[in-house]
Amino acid sequence: MKRQRLRRRIIVASAILLPVTLNYFSPYLMTTGAALGIITGSFIVWVVWSVVALFVGRAACGWVCPLDGIQLVCDKVTHGRRLRRVPGLGALRYVLWAAWMGAVVALLVRHGGVSHVEPLYMTAHVVSVDAAGNLITLTMLVAIVAVPAVLIGRHAFCQYLCPFAPYNIVGSLAGRALRLPQLRLRLSGAACSGCGSCAGTCPMSLPVPEMVATGDLRRTDCIMCGSCADGCPRGVIAYRFARTVSAATSAAADGAPGTARDAA
Ligand code: SF4
Ligand code: SF4
Repeated sequence: MKRQRLRRRIIVASAILLPVTLNYFSPYLMTTGAALGIITGSFIVWVVWSVVALFVGRAACGWVCPLDGIQLVCDKVTHGRRLRRVPGLGALRYVLWAAWMGAVVALLVRHGGVSHVEPLYMTAHVVSVDAAGNLITLTMLVAIVAVPAVLIGRHAFCQYLCPFAPYNIVGSLAGRALRLPQLRLRLSGAACSGCGSCAGTCPMSLPVPEMVATGDLRRTDCIMCGSCADGCPRGVIAYRFARTVSAATSAAADGAPGTARDAA
């Protein structure tokens, strides 16, 4: 559990640092910068975020994202209430992301391409929240992340609203398609007792015991936090960094059941 303590500390620290880093994640600055042909700090961050996902899947969501830190605090307040599934709402984050990306590309094209790179665009003092206006933006962001967690369940923002998640999801799927070495979950070969502890600790409310039973640990909503692996009393699930291989080869290499597959 040392690893999970470390993870929690990192994401809570990331959330505490949000007044400093806010602009470097900002869709607004990325979009207004594109209108002027500027590659902003947030543009660079999201490109790097996608490239990293080629190799570690959605681990940046589970290990670095400040919004994950806010949701972790919400989980403490709501005692980790499981997510209520809302049919159709899962598409919303992709719609938001596509609209954002479409706007950035259209504005860059209208401007005639990139004119220059400016990582500190509209961030005069490196620190993002340096005026009352930015404090209001930060407060609104915290509310947008926290309110769904309280009303719908844990990590509801991640699951339904986050326009940043598709960067990780697309990068992760591309890494798998390209058969790059990638961090993933694997069955260790130990027998599952069906205790359900992993489902209880999964921040994304994924049906981990069912995933283990079918041997398919891949879910686009898995943020590679490793809570299931670290919390399993029998060591059924393990982190592995490996190239995607066929199910049969994978199972043979791990001593896992023949149906074992990876999470990406
Ligand atoms: S399945 Fe495991 S690694 Fe993925 S989000 Fe759930 S607890 Fe984290
Ligand atoms: S915590 Fe481990 S033993 Fe328990 S249901 Fe999950 S995978 Fe199976």
